Amino acid sequence: MTAPARGYLTERLAGFGTTIFAEMSALAVRTGSLNLGQGFPDTDGPQEILDAAVAALRSGHNQYPPGPGIPALRHAIADHQRRFHGQELDPDAEVLVTTGATEAIAAALLALCEPGDEVVCFEPFYDSYAACIAMAGAERRVVTLRPPDWAVDPDELAAAFSPRTRLVLLNTPHNPTGKVFGQAELELIAGHCRDRDVLAVCDEVYEHLVFEGEHILLATLPGMAERTVTISSAGKTFSVTGWKIGWACGRPELVRAVQTAKQFLTYVSGAPFQHAVARALALPDAYYEGFTAGLRAKRDRLCAGLEAAGLEVHRPAGTYFVNADIRAIGEDDGLAFCWALPERAGVVAVPTVVFYDDQAVGRPLVRFAFCKRDEVIDEAAARLARLRA
Ligand code: PMP
Ligand code: GLN
Repeated sequence: MTAPARGYLTERLAGFGTTIFAEMSALAVRTGSLNLGQGFPDTDGPQEILDAAVAALRSGHNQYPPGPGIPALRHAIADHQRRFHGQELDPDAEVLVTTGATEAIAAALLALCEPGDEVVCFEPFYDSYAACIAMAGAERRVVTLRPPDWAVDPDELAAAFSPRTRLVLLNTPHNPTGKVFGQAELELIAGHCRDRDVLAVCDEVYEHLVFEGEHILLATLPGMAERTVTISSAGKTFSVTGWKIGWACGRPELVRAVQTAKQFLTYVSGAPFQHAVARALALPDAYYEGFTAGLRAKRDRLCAGLEAAGLEVHRPAGTYFVNADIRAIGEDDGLAFCWALPERAGVVAVPTVVFYDDQAVGRPLVRFAFCKRDEVIDEAAARLARLRA
């Protein structure tokens, strides 16, 4: 076959290649390394929700579910938002079930942005953001978060807005930094949105992984409900990242817009899993408290291990990721470090620089995931400690 002169991949997707998570997980499998790279737990979620998925499979829930999601799940999402965040939603008009948060983000950007619109986001940013902004034909305007506190610089934030800004794409708790955006920063962002008549899309998949501070919904700040799409998913909260059940919530007009795009991406998905996630969301507070406490202990465990290995650790307030600065062990190139790490230490981690446009800020940072069994965390830390020896 002769290749077309124009090539294959469109210009807007040029440079996106393979996601770092797929690359690093493949590297871990290939080298038999401990995988502290891709953020997925190495144990299953609660047995009763696994059983609920099996029961749904066996009781005929295997055909297309309704476009917006099964009613039981939409009601469970609305109940969850009220119970944990004080957000009032009409389950019939303000909740849309999606194929993970990933599809909700893609659908929101495709539905809400015209080509040439600008999207303000915070770097380091989750990798699908840049790709989805590009697929929507929009342009990203990036505000840089820098260690150790990952604070938003108000001047940099103001400078990121222009008359072409259509929306702010926010992620809190934030992957990969572990930052939990505080009230003052959220007020600042909300102020820009209101003053400039800009929308917001808020990715909150780590909403139950907050160890310090409090998770505040951008949508609950004054004047924000009518302009914010709140996105989350079951993957992290119930340790079922492969199920890909997510949701987008907001005012009926906003959700309808997102659904217009969503219905032509996947139409619907995960019928039996939707039943199981409806059950999961209704689990008692003890489940959620235990989940957060368990991951807090793992955070402390990995942070201690990385410190003992000589790394400078930026202790996360949320999520299941921790960033370490490798300059403390005489290295400075996180990308080279991560590619060599399987051979040097039998460990896989993610170079944080891939989430930055500003390469200089991200260069010495490496992200480790701690949603792993204690013995895996301990062994990884012990192996990293030998790097210095
Ligand atoms: N947003 C962020 C910040 C994430 O870390 C992830 C990773 N899972 C996602 C979205 C995607 O979520 P889902 O698996 O539900 O599509
Ligand atoms: N969210 C996970 C992470 O940040 C990975 C998800 C994915 O592989 N797309 O590691």
